[in-house]
Amino acid sequence: MSELTGNRIRSTAGKLGLPHLAETINEFTRRADEAKMGYLEFLDLVLSEELAVREDRRFRSGLRTSKLPHHKTLDEYDFSFQPELDPRKVKDLATLSFIEAKANAALLGPPGVGKTHIAVALAVAACRAGYSIYFTTLDDMVRNLKTAETAGQLVNKLGTYLRPSVLVVDEVGYQPLERAEANLVFQVISKRYEKGSVILTSNKTFSEWGQVFGDEVLATAILDRLLHHCEVVSINGNSYRLKNRLQAIARDSDVA
Ligand code: ADP
Ligand code: MG
Repeated sequence: MSELTGNRIRSTAGKLGLPHLAETINEFTRRADEAKMGYLEFLDLVLSEELAVREDRRFRSGLRTSKLPHHKTLDEYDFSFQPELDPRKVKDLATLSFIEAKANAALLGPPGVGKTHIAVALAVAACRAGYSIYFTTLDDMVRNLKTAETAGQLVNKLGTYLRPSVLVVDEVGYQPLERAEANLVFQVISKRYEKGSVILTSNKTFSEWGQVFGDEVLATAILDRLLHHCEVVSINGNSYRLKNRLQAIARDSDVA
């Protein structure tokens, strides 16, 4: 390839928004020569690499704006530690068809069973698939909405929780809410209804949500929207956080 042609391709690729091609045209032609590629094969290679680089960039930037607390995956989740949890239920969720259907997922159970881990893993998978993600605890969301409301910025702030394709609401039920706070949660859930997915985690059963939201009528209204299209996964088992500690205690008592 002449230097002139190389320079022109670099410049055209840059203008077309194909930075990977612009940067690696020499590398591409070397590989094509070495492998004696046909024209179609070469074009296919250039386009598919450009797309892969672009998707990887979008995925990384999506993870940055998602505010996820970590990026754990389902591969890192030890299903043998929760024998009552059917792995198929979680793996079905990981196909993301509930997100495509703008339905919700609820992960319920006591502390340490991996609710947040699974919610994050689903969100990471969704981000990789191209969905926009936002992670918040319920308490942070309520606090931010209250502050915004006081400042006359509620509509603007609601957008943070309404725009993403997937909103992860972690730790529903850790702190009881006042009626005005529960009303802000209702606004988010009712406005997202059938428009975007919510993945939530809670240590409370749905029947206890009346206490969480300080008002049975509001709690019912929230649950009504949330559960109309919702996959519910209950994890009833031991805390993984206490796993090593419990094993150590068992060892000590064996010795004694
Ligand atoms: P929860 O949200 O239910 O309180 P977390 O998801 O925060 O629990 O889990 C607590 C810690 O234990 C995290 O570091 C998580 O990655 C890990 N963990 C929980 N369950 C499992 C599991 N079955 N296999 C591997 N790690 C787990
Ligand atoms: Mg948690």
